[in-house]
Amino acid sequence: MDICNVIVTGKSGAGKQPRIDVLKDLFNLKQLSTGDLFRSCIKAFNELGIEKDITEYAEKTILDDEEAMKILHGADFKEVEKDELLLGLRSKWYSYQGLFVPDDITNSVFKHYFLQGNACMFVLDGYPRTKSQCRFLLDLCSEMKTSISFLLLVENDDERIISRTIGRRICPVCKTVYHIDYKPPLNGKFCYNDGAEVVLRADDMEEKIRRRLNEYYEKTIESLEFLMENNIPIAKVTGHLEDFSEENVKKSVLDSLEKIGLTV
Ligand SMILES: [Zn+2]
Repeated sequence: MDICNVIVTGKSGAGKQPRIDVLKDLFNLKQLSTGDLFRSCIKAFNELGIEKDITEYAEKTILDDEEAMKILHGADFKEVEKDELLLGLRSKWYSYQGLFVPDDITNSVFKHYFLQGNACMFVLDGYPRTKSQCRFLLDLCSEMKTSISFLLLVENDDERIISRTIGRRICPVCKTVYHIDYKPPLNGKFCYNDGAEVVLRADDMEEKIRRRLNEYYEKTIESLEFLMENNIPIAKVTGHLEDFSEENVKKSVLDSLEKIGLTV
């Protein structure tokens, strides 16, 4: 069977990345993660070296193309870079204030990078997250004459996600991720690479995890319903495996694809 694009979705901490890795291998796909896309356009903007506190600008200024271009005034860049820089400016403006990035900006950021790869052979991670993003994606695919071949839903239990995530530790120096049970740091506390004391990320605190889970329920359920109504096959895979070997992870993906009639 010919595969075009695939979506992987699931709660944060459900075990998506190992499944994404399997799909990349099986179908020769490239990963497109929303988090990376935002970082990428913000980095492009930062490299302009405009030393201004952009949070001082009004939202209206940020959203208006002509006004936003005035902020870039005097910086040295090529015309082809303009779109990415404006997206970087906008993404930065919202994220630096801890504001939720509006759907239309998320859509534009996604579109920019998706079209650079001709809108095909991607595994989408972290997008689409809302019903309006789903609609945008399907419209974009039909415009580009590409498609979404299926969605892989990684299912995992809330309490298990919470206990797994709060055990995670990161090295503040080299950013290596450890886990107090599954990949313990040296003496339970220190990074093997540089001896730095590992820390719990703010994002991995229980309260934050619960907030992300609630957000997941609010938005994802209706997104999945919308995709099903539009005939996108949904394959379900259990995130948790007693034996989390590479072989078992691969088998879990293949089994779930078989259930939707897809044999690889
Ligand atoms: Zn380290």
